[in-house]
Amino acid sequence: MLQLYIPLNFLGVIYREIRQSLTDIERMFGLLGQHKEIDDTPDAGSLAPGPATVRFEHVDFHYDPARDILFDVDFTIPAGRTVAVVGHSGSGKSTLARLLFRFYDVTGGRITVNGVDVRDLQQDSLRRAIGIVPQDTVLFNDTLRYNIQYGNPEASPGAVEAAASAAQLDDFIARLPEGMDTRVGERGLKLSGGEKQRVAIARALLKDPAVLIFDEATSALDSKTEKAIQAQIDRAARGRTALVIAHRLSTVAHADEIIVLDQGRIVERGHHRELLAASGAYAQMWRLQQQEAHERDLETGAA
Ligand code: ATP
Repeated sequence: MLQLYIPLNFLGVIYREIRQSLTDIERMFGLLGQHKEIDDTPDAGSLAPGPATVRFEHVDFHYDPARDILFDVDFTIPAGRTVAVVGHSGSGKSTLARLLFRFYDVTGGRITVNGVDVRDLQQDSLRRAIGIVPQDTVLFNDTLRYNIQYGNPEASPGAVEAAASAAQLDDFIARLPEGMDTRVGERGLKLSGGEKQRVAIARALLKDPAVLIFDEATSALDSKTEKAIQAQIDRAARGRTALVIAHRLSTVAHADEIIVLDQGRIVERGHHRELLAASGAYAQMWRLQQQEAHERDLETGAA
């Protein structure tokens, strides 16, 4: 029995390793391969460094011509401001981020950065200007330093450390056995959701991007963790143009403008207080989420 168990156990380890490597490769190709069909035009320009104003001008979009996803979406994020997009699952929030990063081209209207249509910009220059904090951060089976440096392979060790500090990772790193050189990921130290998010923020900040996109994770959190995430977002977005795709309204109550998307259409927009006073879809979502957060706090004893 023991003879059989050892090879089986060994196979299990190998299987897990191969599966993890494939996952990493798959995700990398997923990220790199999505925009293959989009080419730079011969006279595409380069985005000048510095503050960026982002405009979605009457944007329509479909992945498949048989099903429209966005309809006449029109909003501006002035340089240095934060716009949050909220709405039910499938309303098209993440699609906005994919279009801004130009994984896909709009099918109607246009998206501009400082007045220039993103289709007239070199993709490299556009993507250099945008940092993304994704819903689910991929951690490679390597050191924490490598994982942060991935945001900008040319960054100096000092810049990597500065980005880690800016993302409030100092205390966490101080507790690690080998500091920044501790291995993380599937085969190393497992990070909590909040720690992973901070690594993602450090990665994004390492690019020092004019535009920051946050795609907030969907998982339910107690209100203390929500507040910590909100503070993270506010801090990282300071001085940058930010598009926050939010699932929890409490994390975006401070946004300069909140856009409520429903089945690909903007149905409400304004500041948190205005939207609450309007007693519409946003106010209803807010009440529901406050209630749910209260119940979770009671369950976890965080209240
Ligand atoms: P969630 O809150 O669940 O993240 P979302 O509001 O961000 O949702 P999107 O991811 O933008 O929604 O998706 C909008 C719609 O587009 C959904 O109906 C989804 O099924 C569809 N969709 C998303 N990605 C693709 C794709 N690559 N091909 C075809 N349809 C897609």
